[in-house]
Amino acid sequence: MNAFPSLKLIDGKATAARVLAEVREQVDSLRRGGMQPALAVVLVGQDAASQVYVRNKVLRAAEVGIRSLEQRLPSDTEQADLLGVIEQLNRDPAINGILVQLPLPGHIDEHQVLQAISPLKDVDGFHSANVGGLAQGRDVLTPCTPSGCMRLLRDACGELRGKHAVVIGRSNIVGKPMAALLLQADCTVTVVHSRSHDLPALCRQADILVSAVGKPRLIGADWLKPGVVVIDVGINRIEEDGRSRLVGDVDFAAALPLAAAITPVPGGVGPMTIAYLMKNTLLALDLQQQAAQRERTACHSPC
Ligand code: NAD
Repeated sequence: MNAFPSLKLIDGKATAARVLAEVREQVDSLRRGGMQPALAVVLVGQDAASQVYVRNKVLRAAEVGIRSLEQRLPSDTEQADLLGVIEQLNRDPAINGILVQLPLPGHIDEHQVLQAISPLKDVDGFHSANVGGLAQGRDVLTPCTPSGCMRLLRDACGELRGKHAVVIGRSNIVGKPMAALLLQADCTVTVVHSRSHDLPALCRQADILVSAVGKPRLIGADWLKPGVVVIDVGINRIEEDGRSRLVGDVDFAAALPLAAAITPVPGGVGPMTIAYLMKNTLLALDLQQQAAQRERTACHSPC
């Protein structure tokens, strides 16, 4: 029995509220200077879950003072028309962030659409220029969920340098950028996935374990080194005791006595994703201002 259970919980809700308060403060200051950051959210089709996600993003933007613009397009929208909408948003100087809600209908080439977003407005961090920039350790827009996980880890662990981090999962949205961010923070990083051998033994080496798999309670006590810090990105809906509930990839009850700190599901990583979308919108504005400044300097310097 753990004597200090509350000390072990990494409270994503509270941290997200702090991040949003920081964003609100920066937005207020920008607005006093006559500038309001703006985020465009593009939704194609009627997917119920996507509609909820978009509504939450728009609501959160309003709470922190970011202007949002919703572009809702029918599910039979042609690829060329969607690319046209993105091009318009790219050109609009009053729009700082562009997010295309995924998944897109099957007839649309997702990669081509994400590549069409200006890298400086790509608040999801999915454009190849930003993926490459992250791999090179440059200051670029990075995906919201792993960026939120890094904030939770920095708050929970302080110094990350030299820690052995094991990331389970290698998706473009979570696993790969998570590994790149941990590497940037001077961790020793191991990425394991569905084809890795002896996952429990690999995971037992971890000082920091980040799981982004999507399998309920995959990770039991025998996967964990005592004192590990666990970030559970997984969100899995299960039926248990006659009711539906959300659980992570980690068997929370089994992990709690072993872990030094752990995120719950729900209430851990989840709230951080939208908070970092807001933070990325401000970062996008900053990067756009820096680019405009560079352009002005280049125009005035003799060739
Ligand atoms: P994904 O399906 O794209 O990737 C899953 C990864 O897990 C793959 O790389 C695969 O190799 C690996 N994997 C599958 N089975 C495995 C196994 N048995 N052992 C080890 N690795 C295995 O999923 P994703 O988009 O990266 O999302 C992962 C989870 O995170 C999902 O539950 C998703 O709902 C959740 N998620 C949460 C947030 C959030 O805001 N909290 C955001 C994104 C994703």
